[in-house]
Amino acid sequence: VAKRGGRNQLVRFEDSMNYALRRRISMEHGLRQALRDGSITPFYQPLIDLKSGDVNGFEALARWWWKGEEVPPAEFVTLAEETGLIVELGEQLLHKACAQAATWPAYITLAFNISPVQFRDPALGLRILQVLGETGLPAERLEIEITETALMIDPQQAEDMLAALQSAGIRVALDDFGTGFSSLSQLSRFRFDKIKIDRSFVVNFESDEKQAKIMRALLGLGHGLGLSTTAEGIESESQLKALTQLGCDVGQGYLFGRALPASAVDSVFFDGRSHQGPTRARQ
Ligand code: C2E
Ligand code: MG
Ligand code: MG
Ligand code: MG
Repeated sequence: VAKRGGRNQLVRFEDSMNYALRRRISMEHGLRQALRDGSITPFYQPLIDLKSGDVNGFEALARWWWKGEEVPPAEFVTLAEETGLIVELGEQLLHKACAQAATWPAYITLAFNISPVQFRDPALGLRILQVLGETGLPAERLEIEITETALMIDPQQAEDMLAALQSAGIRVALDDFGTGFSSLSQLSRFRFDKIKIDRSFVVNFESDEKQAKIMRALLGLGHGLGLSTTAEGIESESQLKALTQLGCDVGQGYLFGRALPASAVDSVFFDGRSHQGPTRARQ
């Protein structure tokens, strides 16, 4: 009985391995097709200036429906990185997002995630400038978000890339701040404009004294270095109130809104009048 059980388990293990492998192969095929169709699109999540309560930007977040279901970015972005398709995908998404952001009021910025794989591509800086030229979005309205993984493989190359982007007027945010191995040393070596404090520090921080002290220290660190600070993953009024009191500059989270398609951004935030210049963003 034990033997048969063992054999059945082996069969089940092989079945599940085959399933994972088949899904991966099928998804890679789907991803290539989606690149040809242009069916992976950016959605936009609002970024709120916590002092005024106004929307001051949106983060582009890639969305893909495949075989009737929404695939999480964590899954398809990883697959795109592993297959090298991220370079083409990233460029397509950047082009769409910049074209859409160019129709928004001029004070609204676009935050865009750049994968470590893209960041290592020496042609990245030039491609971004080309996309800005093609879409008419001023460099000052683009903020790229990178994680520290992008900086670790070749720090010298990363430093040069950051300098090139920033001298063109593009701002750079260090995303998921505090979750990596070496966040603090990255802050001394590289020049950023902003840190985005990871959602894991926001969860429960208003009710947990220790978490609150860490948050206070992270904000103090950012401000001490002259950086703008954003807190990710704000879901409650109490988190918002506490973060505002601590002087956090920008907030992002489900409390303010989830990522929306471009058409909804126009109607919800700009009264459908995004082409006619500044309107007070509202929700
Ligand atoms: P990220 O850049 O840190 O983006 C923030 C993530 O937090 C998004 O997940 C967003 O939907 C989620 N989020 C925002 N507010 C809340 C909240 O209040 N509660 C909770 N539970 N979650 C919140 P999403 O869209 O699933 O994206 C996951 C990651 O995938 C992103 O993390 C980013 O690293 C990557 N990603 C997404 N779009 C792109 C893209 O176009 N290019 C690249 N290279 N990476 C992307
Ligand atoms: Mg991000
Ligand atoms: Mg983040
Ligand atoms: Mg994150």
